[in-house]
Amino acid sequence: MAAQTLLQKLEILADAAKYDASCASSGTAKKNSLGGKGIGSTEGMGICHAYAPDGRCISLLKILLTNHCVFDCHYCVNRKSSNVARARFTPQEVVDLTLGFYRRNYIEGLFLSSGIVKSSDHTMEQIVEVARILREEHDFRGYIHLKTIPEADPEIVHRAGLYADRVSINVELPTDSGLTRLAPDKDARQIEGAMGKVKADLIEAKDARKRFRHAPRFAPAGQSTQMIVGADAATDADIVGKASRLYDNFRLRRVYYSAFSPIPDASAVLPLKRPPLIREHRLYQSDWLMRFYGYKPADVMQATEADGNLPLDIDPKLAWALKFREAFPVDVNRASKEQLLRVPGLGVKAVGKILASRRHRALRLDDVARLTQSITKVRPFICAVDWRPVTLTDRADLRSLLAPKAEQLELFAA
Ligand code: SF4
Repeated sequence: MAAQTLLQKLEILADAAKYDASCASSGTAKKNSLGGKGIGSTEGMGICHAYAPDGRCISLLKILLTNHCVFDCHYCVNRKSSNVARARFTPQEVVDLTLGFYRRNYIEGLFLSSGIVKSSDHTMEQIVEVARILREEHDFRGYIHLKTIPEADPEIVHRAGLYADRVSINVELPTDSGLTRLAPDKDARQIEGAMGKVKADLIEAKDARKRFRHAPRFAPAGQSTQMIVGADAATDADIVGKASRLYDNFRLRRVYYSAFSPIPDASAVLPLKRPPLIREHRLYQSDWLMRFYGYKPADVMQATEADGNLPLDIDPKLAWALKFREAFPVDVNRASKEQLLRVPGLGVKAVGKILASRRHRALRLDDVARLTQSITKVRPFICAVDWRPVTLTDRADLRSLLAPKAEQLELFAA
């Protein structure tokens, strides 16, 4: 077989990486190459952010080192029984591509994952080698996110964290039974064990830096994980419960949700259809409520419907408010921050502005309207100097009044 060119490999290995959602580059330590030292920056200014036609953010070079894999996870296009074109980069090739794209201002960093070749340790060594060459030989100061392999020697994973801004280990599926059925080579306990070790390394490195200014950094943007949604029978309540346990146990920066997408040459044990994309969106909204709005996992679970899933037509915050109408209306001039954060249509910023302005004067409905995109959504849940919703909060048809209007589908849309 003729040797593949770098471009052919890139086509295969960038495409194979598109199923991974967890590439956001937020929250790392600032580094730049001002003064002509090193190359790259994590500060974002002057960086070209671009979106591929399928909506992917490509401001990071997002690739696999190889899509060869000795594992056989049913949901994965790269599993060993899949009939796809295969390719493999050397660490030096990934380094050259990263530097080449960076110099052209196409990317702000690298997101590197891999199928497992030879062994987990061998693959992890190769992943770490890419980051080592970039950091040590080229003084690369851009963002590096390494996907780590839970089965690899913790010592090698530790080295990954010394070079990367962020490391992640995918839990893959929301339930252990789903993992056993769909990823027979993986082990939930091993995955969580690896996440626990990364958490310990993060804490240790943070403590060391408090004591010694030059102690090495370890993954300053923390660790994250990804869960596939819709490949097994797990409900949104199961997924929210799992995500919250992961946040609590492993101090994760982010849990990413990736709607299962039917892959070419799919295994017969998988559903034929992908779940609606809006399901992924509702899970991100619920994640947001837990991280920034003070909702407990139990609150989000209360917002689910009888089948354990969040409604698709309205957001989880509105779903909760409609179920717990006795908690409303709240008086914008007196309510606590926590109560205001429960009002559908009021974001964290709007609540901050309400709290600040009401110190100076009593707020009217118009004042609140200026802080929100849809006062119609807010009105049934608040009182202001000149406004009381009277019976509006309790109307049986309130959900249909507030749900976004369904969009007319185009008859001839592709
Ligand atoms: S180990 Fe990773 S690359 Fe290999 S089949 Fe499983 S999900 Fe795919």
